[in-house]
Amino acid sequence: MMTPKRHVYLDHAATTPVHPEVFQEMRIVLETHFGNPSSLHFYGRAVKQRLEIARGRVARLLNAKPEEIFFTSGGTEADNLAVIGTAWALQGRGRHIITSTIEHHAVLDTCEMLSQNGFDVTFLPVDHYGMVDIDELRRAIRQDTILITIMHANNEIGTIQPIKEIGKIAKEYEIVFHTDAVQTAGYLPLNVDQLGVDLLSVSAHKIYGPKGAGALYVREGTALEPLLHGGGQERSKRPGTENIPGIVGLGKAAELAANEHASESRRYRKLSEKLIQGIRERIPGTRLNGHPEKRLPHNVNVTIEGTKGECLLTGLDQRGIAVSTGSACSSGSSQLSHVLEAIGLSPEKGAGTIRMTVGRSTTVGDIEYVLDNLVDIVNMLRRDS
Ligand SMILES: *Cc1c(COP(=O)(O)O)cnc(C)c1O
Repeated sequence: MMTPKRHVYLDHAATTPVHPEVFQEMRIVLETHFGNPSSLHFYGRAVKQRLEIARGRVARLLNAKPEEIFFTSGGTEADNLAVIGTAWALQGRGRHIITSTIEHHAVLDTCEMLSQNGFDVTFLPVDHYGMVDIDELRRAIRQDTILITIMHANNEIGTIQPIKEIGKIAKEYEIVFHTDAVQTAGYLPLNVDQLGVDLLSVSAHKIYGPKGAGALYVREGTALEPLLHGGGQERSKRPGTENIPGIVGLGKAAELAANEHASESRRYRKLSEKLIQGIRERIPGTRLNGHPEKRLPHNVNVTIEGTKGECLLTGLDQRGIAVSTGSACSSGSSQLSHVLEAIGLSPEKGAGTIRMTVGRSTTVGDIEYVLDNLVDIVNMLRRDS
């Protein structure tokens, strides 16, 4: 086993490292502020103050009011709370939910669960770019539709959905609208009023914060039943003593994201374009997955003919490069992810698919290193097959 010349992390859509400034704030809380924010004494008040600062920062990232932010254990819980919480709150009015086939499993599997428990779910198909069809959405709406849940941008292929248009339609029909913005926070501007959403999920560890912390934005006046019952924290929408270090970390990460997403995104766009262009020029038989323009700035998802994703991943890993794959191909029978399937790839056509997502630490030198090694590995794999 050779020692890699470099380590290049290109899996920022899976998780990001904790930003030093985030760590610094978390550390102060862990070291000195151990109080329970519900306690009325000095120790409790000191922590409560930090909890509310974090809430304000997340609210600012989303252009929301602090009272509309509810902290959760991450993106998954925020999605569950949004979907199940709405279903329970509005089941008297109707039992129909609209979502898409390319949602994160946190939404998809939650909708599946509801469909096995008396709810009717429409899973909207997407086109080959991964885009939801607005007309299809309109046609899917029924008298008893209570919730539309469509993600802001897809975690695998990076396609950005027309959330504003969907928001307008939801409003027109007075249907609650949730979006999973876990992948867009820190990359695109997030303004809950402009987007026209009632519920929106974010996760700390996708934006240089810690794992196990997230938030759900709930528009004032939106009916939502809690999933947990207990001590009344988070105005009883999410009881349980708060994960203060995580929430403080999320707050700081949100502040950094609000201040720096524009400049960082420009840099990511340049890096991913260099990567895409290099692949096109140096490797014949490749295809970019997702929308060519309406895509996350840091996402490169490519299919390389005559290869297998898992083999590419392993080859790159041996050279210190971390990517992810949308297809598992152990023992010959390759199975595609639900997203690649939804954009019309067959197991054969989509087999050689990898996702590379750049981030704060990625340099031009990293991209050159990745390209040189990818060319090498593809040549080797194609020669062998
Ligand atoms: C990562 C992710 C989630 C889940 O967030 P966790 O904090 O890991 O639970 C949900 N949705 C999308 C789009 C994601 O990328």
